[in-house]
Amino acid sequence: MTDDYRNEGPRRVGQVKEVTSLANPIIKDIKALSQKKSRDESRTFLAEGLKLVIDALDRGWIIRTLVYAKAGKGKPLVEKVAARTVAAGGLVLEVSEKVMSSITRRDNPQMVAAVFEQRWTPLKDIQPKGSETWIALDRVRDPGNLGTIIRTADAVGASGVILVGDCTDPFSMETVRATMGSMFALPLVKTTPADFLKWKKSVDARLVATHLAGAVDYRTIDYKSKPVILMMGNEQSGLPDELAEAADKLARIPQVGMADSLNLAVATGVMLFEVRRHLLALDGAK
Ligand code: SAM
Repeated sequence: MTDDYRNEGPRRVGQVKEVTSLANPIIKDIKALSQKKSRDESRTFLAEGLKLVIDALDRGWIIRTLVYAKAGKGKPLVEKVAARTVAAGGLVLEVSEKVMSSITRRDNPQMVAAVFEQRWTPLKDIQPKGSETWIALDRVRDPGNLGTIIRTADAVGASGVILVGDCTDPFSMETVRATMGSMFALPLVKTTPADFLKWKKSVDARLVATHLAGAVDYRTIDYKSKPVILMMGNEQSGLPDELAEAADKLARIPQVGMADSLNLAVATGVMLFEVRRHLLALDGAK
């Protein structure tokens, strides 16, 4: 047993702070994470739920502050997460139900929430290969759409999500909630349209862009012989010409009925299951 390990017990107890006041400055800082400005400045974000926090820790995400409601005290999994947080240099707060509700903006909050460090992957580090699928989203605006797309991307085994142009923040509470934990599973990249186009030219991948004026039925495209970058357009205006023109294929999902278009997250789901159809089986990856 090392000295460090022997010290872990007393150190952990000493590091758990009890907080019952909403006026506590640490609580105020955590609540401020509902604002993008605070998330950007601190490069952190808030996520809720014990399972989600454990999964994130297992995947190497760093917790700055773990918050648990009094009801969680003594529960083995909560204690374990608290110990891991302290061991990694994080802070642990035990808070009243009132404080937990206020932090998470819920009447029936989860027992555990955590402030994580944000993680972005630089576009230059992405070299699509083999059967990889990358999703590029042009100016996605709706947090629920982005969260649903990240969750679906994870479910089909896509490699990551590239946010092109002025997109909604993937680290907002609404998006994080909608991802149901999947945001901890995938790299996120942000870039400008110009840098995306430059990068696209430098990689050996097929850019399949979806467009209401696409001439190609999405079920007829070859998704097997090269890695795929699936590009989806903005909710209101669709893909701008400069991005559509860079596509190797401009795909359309046939529709009947009165609706002009599909919801962005639904269209992305339909596309992803087709792009990766040959790789998916009921008992996991083929
Ligand atoms: N008014 C917008 C337009 O003219 O493109 C509608 C955008 S739609 C709500 C958002 C995105 O979902 C589109 O840019 C496209 O990427 C995708 N999409 C929706 N329905 C589609 C379809 N039937 N075929 C191909 N892509 C579709």
